[in-house]
Amino acid sequence: MLKGKAAVVTGATSGIGLGIARALAAEGANVMINGFGEAEAIEKERAGLESAFGIRALYSDADMTRPPEITAMVAEAEKAFGAVDILVNNAGIQFVSPVEDFPPEKWDAIVAINLSSAFHAVRAAVPGMKARKWGRIINTGSAHALVASPFKSAYVAAKHGIAGLTKTVALETAAHGITVNAICPGYVWTPLVEKQIPATMQARGLTREQVINDVMLAGQATKQFVTVDEIGALAVFLAGDMARSITGALITIDGGWTAA
Ligand code: NAD
Repeated sequence: MLKGKAAVVTGATSGIGLGIARALAAEGANVMINGFGEAEAIEKERAGLESAFGIRALYSDADMTRPPEITAMVAEAEKAFGAVDILVNNAGIQFVSPVEDFPPEKWDAIVAINLSSAFHAVRAAVPGMKARKWGRIINTGSAHALVASPFKSAYVAAKHGIAGLTKTVALETAAHGITVNAICPGYVWTPLVEKQIPATMQARGLTREQVINDVMLAGQATKQFVTVDEIGALAVFLAGDMARSITGALITIDGGWTAA
């Protein structure tokens, strides 16, 4: 379905970004993955994408806090693949603290990685998309692009910012064959989440089931985690031609969290 297309996925060395990169590659897209991690593991993943799906996969170590590296990442992908047709702005971090204790450097890092990096990547990728009259920009938002939770001021502010960026760029590019949307997940089952369970069990004196149902899934009506495969499938749909009329949308995939 995406044969001949080229994608850049930020924050694709783990979790949701990796799931999206794999899903796009499975549909035939060449992909540039980006993110931090152990060099050997990243190379294994990159080579694995090529051998599993018969596509070209590249890796960029661009730091999403550094605008020149973001611009260079997009330029490198355009040079190598001939285009960036699909841009997935997914890299993100979290920090939890009451606002009066929130370290300013954590605020700056979250706004840089979770919000400003998307602006810089969009700015670099849109001219090529306009020239080719086709583009897909998919931002990883969050349920927190729509609703707040206490102690996550920077994260919620950045994700609400992603919602605004998504809608604005969608309006600016709609006449050029480009769509811009945000996937807004609830709690997603990632290795990162799984690793938190034992620590939370210990800290709160709860069973594994209590941590999952009463802490992690308290807001999710399905009482189930979203999976990275579900998010990958949504990204593939948004990248396809049948989604050409979907733009400026904040698409929740949150088990009913924000319906309440
Ligand atoms: P994760 O920690 O598994 O992955 C984050 C990725 O971002 C990694 O590849 C990491 O290397 C990369 N990254 C971090 N800082 C970076 C930087 N400075 N430059 C480049 N890459 C950097 O997390 P995840 O759960 O897969 O989250 C991915 C996105 O999904 C984030 O935007 C997050 O806010 C969003 N999200 C996650 C959930 C969830 O429950 N896991 C829910 C809603 C939204």
